[in-house]
Amino acid sequence: MLLPGKTIGVLGGGQLGRMLAQAATRLGYRVHVYEPQAHCPAGAIAHQEVNAPYEDLAALTAFARECDVVTYEFENVPAAPLQAIESLTQLRPHWRVLETTQNRSREKRWLRDNKFPHARFAEVTADGDLAAGIREVGVPCVVKTADFGYDGKGQLKILTEADLPAALARFAGQAVVVEQFVDFACEVSAVVARSASAAVRVFPISENIHTHHILDFCIVPARVPAEVLALAEKLPRLIAEKIDLVGVMGVEMFVTRTGEVLVNELAPRTHNSGHYTIDACMTSQFEQQVRAICGLPLGAVTLLSPVVMVNILGDAWAKGEPKWEALLAQPNVRLHLYGKAEPRPGRKMGHFTVTARDADMAFELAQKYQARLG
Ligand code: AMP
Repeated sequence: MLLPGKTIGVLGGGQLGRMLAQAATRLGYRVHVYEPQAHCPAGAIAHQEVNAPYEDLAALTAFARECDVVTYEFENVPAAPLQAIESLTQLRPHWRVLETTQNRSREKRWLRDNKFPHARFAEVTADGDLAAGIREVGVPCVVKTADFGYDGKGQLKILTEADLPAALARFAGQAVVVEQFVDFACEVSAVVARSASAAVRVFPISENIHTHHILDFCIVPARVPAEVLALAEKLPRLIAEKIDLVGVMGVEMFVTRTGEVLVNELAPRTHNSGHYTIDACMTSQFEQQVRAICGLPLGAVTLLSPVVMVNILGDAWAKGEPKWEALLAQPNVRLHLYGKAEPRPGRKMGHFTVTARDADMAFELAQKYQARLG
């Protein structure tokens, strides 16, 4: 057990690292952040910030030697250098978990091999036959690059065979996954935590609404039937056990119109859809991450109030500084900003949560407050 006072190393210095650092420092831990870009959101909170490329083994080694445990907040950290860290300190989750989940081909294969429900897919290697892959899965389908995909980046929806030439041109020379297009009823997700002693806790399921492929609203409790909720909680629990997770993991799922739950994506870190836990749960996903990687007892995941989380993207700055005062005047709103200087369109700059007596009311208010912000 790593007690308060020990040093937690975080690879990646974005907002997930920042909120992890906030939770960890509140519990009395020291936090060191490793991030290629200077002045990162997490660096402003951490005791130490190291700026070096992830491939710089000497810098990574020096960083790891100062930490009692190392975790990551970003899944595109190359897995190979992480192996080197493991001989110096504890890496949680294990690098194999990252290796499996950071590449869509490996991730989908893992889901298939372990019999977790998922959308039908075909893998196409960099020099493989994309047209054959698309024919195998059938249209409509979605082509996704195997590496470095998030928030719908590196994706193309194929509606008919006529879209084939565009897909061939765009993905030439890239390894991809071709996935059946799921006409889902809704999207849900869960953050699951598993400790070194194999205790597992799943946070309340979030119903997620995306706009232009980026998460816009998280509604909790999710407005889905009880059987769907039960499945959406059971799958992350089983996945955490099967993959031997120590830490937290976000599990994104599609709910089909017939009530099936399909696993879409795994992220072995805290998740945007779990931000609501800071304001509406007994334990936040970030504190849970600290507890899980430090071997402390996991915290209660009780929901204290129905809640909706709204992402604040750089687009909110289109007409100048957003009207924070209007938002902050609401008694049921909490605002979180990540300290990013440059509000680019699509960039996650912060979020706010709205609590209310039920999820529908919280969602209605959240939409109203969001519309007034920009
Ligand atoms: P991803 O980067 O895989 O999480 O995809 C981002 C978003 O694109 C998802 O949250 C869905 O809204 C949509 N999407 C991705 N894959 C599919 C699919 N196979 N069928 C339907 N929508 C999808």
